Amino acid sequence: MFRAELVFFLRKRLALLGSLAVAAATVFGVFSLSGTDPFSFRDMRLTSTLSAMGAARSAAVAGVLAVGLVALLWLSRDKRSRTEALVLSAADGTRLLLSRVAVLTLYALALCALCVLVTLITWVAASLTANLGALLQAVLLVTLPALVLSLLLCTGLYLLFDSLDAAFLGLGTLFFISLLSGDYRLRWVTTHVNWFSDFAGSDMLAPPMAFGRLIACLCFGSLFLHGLLAMRRYGYGAHDSLRTRRSRGALGVLAAVLTAGCVAAYLAEPFVDRNSPLLKQTEISRWGTTEDTPTVNEAGGLRMKSLRSDALLDTEHSRITATATYILESAANTREISFDINSGLNVEHVLVDGAPGRFSLEKGSLTVLLPAGASEITVSYGGGIKSPSLQSLAGYIGRDSVYLQEGSNWLPRPRGLADAAFALTGSITAQEHLTFAVPGRLAELEEQNSLRTWHYAMEIREVDVALYGGVYETRSFQAAGVPVELYVSHGHMEASLGRDIPSVVEDIVAFYTDALGPYPFDTPLRVVETSLYKGGGHSSLNLVTAAETVFHMKKPGADTEASMASFAWMNAVDLLAHEIAHQWWGSGVTAAYEPPWSDEGLASFMANAYIAHAFSRQEADGMGLYPWISSVEEQKDSYFADDEALAKVSESKRDQILGDRLHAQLYYEMPLLLMGMEKELGAEVFWERLSGVYTLSQDSGSVSWDIFCTAMGVRKEEVRYERYYADFPA
Ligand SMILES: [Zn+2]
Repeated sequence: MFRAELVFFLRKRLALLGSLAVAAATVFGVFSLSGTDPFSFRDMRLTSTLSAMGAARSAAVAGVLAVGLVALLWLSRDKRSRTEALVLSAADGTRLLLSRVAVLTLYALALCALCVLVTLITWVAASLTANLGALLQAVLLVTLPALVLSLLLCTGLYLLFDSLDAAFLGLGTLFFISLLSGDYRLRWVTTHVNWFSDFAGSDMLAPPMAFGRLIACLCFGSLFLHGLLAMRRYGYGAHDSLRTRRSRGALGVLAAVLTAGCVAAYLAEPFVDRNSPLLKQTEISRWGTTEDTPTVNEAGGLRMKSLRSDALLDTEHSRITATATYILESAANTREISFDINSGLNVEHVLVDGAPGRFSLEKGSLTVLLPAGASEITVSYGGGIKSPSLQSLAGYIGRDSVYLQEGSNWLPRPRGLADAAFALTGSITAQEHLTFAVPGRLAELEEQNSLRTWHYAMEIREVDVALYGGVYETRSFQAAGVPVELYVSHGHMEASLGRDIPSVVEDIVAFYTDALGPYPFDTPLRVVETSLYKGGGHSSLNLVTAAETVFHMKKPGADTEASMASFAWMNAVDLLAHEIAHQWWGSGVTAAYEPPWSDEGLASFMANAYIAHAFSRQEADGMGLYPWISSVEEQKDSYFADDEALAKVSESKRDQILGDRLHAQLYYEMPLLLMGMEKELGAEVFWERLSGVYTLSQDSGSVSWDIFCTAMGVRKEEVRYERYYADFPA
């Protein structure tokens, strides 16, 4: 029966059309770098690692539809041609169905093989060095499961409802949910991963991808079994068909087990950190209502003398084992101290003044009880790192890439710390092939048994300690008297030098030194390439990062439209300039947060001023002024600008709206206010006063909105968007 069905299937034109669609989608996928992000990827050099995921995703989208449609038309064939009676009186319905499913499974496998073959041919044609490993991984994790899932889904729906329309509708609905959902567990067509990083490997991505697939397989597998149970015997209704089915007991139990497994796996999802204070602190609770701001350690002004951190990485298993010792100046008035800690980490023990201490750990929060006069707390902890979002990782430990940004709370961060400087010393130990960009001064590099330990030291004010590891090459150079170290992945150094990234950094540092004053640290400025698993850039202490999209761009003008190419490049320069500006506003002097007053506004303004200096005022306005005004206007015109409208929506929707509003205030409105000031005061006076207030604020390390306005010689209540931009042509 199987052979007969196979022969029959091969003669069908629809299956051939489906294959052509998958082949075409694969070719499109290889070249679709700009598909997900119009700016960052625009001018990036194409590599086989990057395009492997593009090909697999495109093939999955086309393949899911091809397999689904072919399956539905094939399964309903007898019914549509009214030969059902003829066929089913001559054959066992179940056996016939299973042979057809087997043929369709072969079809799905053939489509995956086609995707691999077409990708390899396309790579050869485009003279790209093939990365077969990345391609097979992408196809096995993305394309193949998606096609099998499509088959299970369509067959299950068709049998369950005995209706082609219901099955089409179900496929279409779940297809769009998968493409649009932000929840990786629902993304059964393409998974949550858009691209494989060109240098960071994908070992840290595979577990959540496979887990998402497992949930979908359990769900659709259960649906398929339910379909089998409900499968109509010719001439019977659903109920009678079920009653007369011999294997209904076993099938029913199996279906129930799969359903229970699916629900359990969905709920016990182990990869996303839903309690991350990162989510709350940066976007939502800092907005408006102050009661959401963490107020633990209410004695306030907990003063720290020093912090010692030692971490050992197991990059094979994505794990960290670490101890952190916090020496407090005096804990006389403090009963307990609370830390933000990544919820993937487990605390093994806590010592208070050398003796075992009492502590509680829940939902990413560690609280340690302090006896009167206690001054030393040592926390021993370990585990993996979770992120609040899998699309943009706050931290990960991979074989060839380690990203431990402070926002991941890989190092427990005490809340309610007084704003005073203290000494940080630390070490990070990992496999010797990794090079680490560490904060502060690199004190010593030890090598032992194929491990390397990087010791660092620095004076800091907040526990903003980030560590970035990779298979890096480094370059050292001077920028306006500041020693700079560039950490770029091995394969991207040539492109970075081709774009002359060192000169760009040098020019940016020189511009800020000239405009504001000297670089705030006596340690080197480290500029570090990070993977696209966290887009954009970041800055903390003397470390600046930017995603690989900045470091692997094509040479100017090469095979892209000149205007788009230069626009992409200008965006990359703007990103670097923004992050480097945080070395002055953020690391050097912090703007005491009072939205829209923030480091973000100052950094965006400084970067835009640099773009005007390096390119032209007109181009800087095209990237800054105009889009910023339209974003601010959009917020003001928003239906939800009205508090009553806002009160009516759900809490999660409200958080999202308030988050967007806050983003517009910090990143767009604030720089616009500074531009307004500059225009009113005149450039010369403005920049002289700006540099003055920066220099004056260096001792205390922070500057409030009030003090800033006074120092700039403007009245705070007059610094308003409406006043500066009232007559701006819309
Ligand atoms: Zn920023």
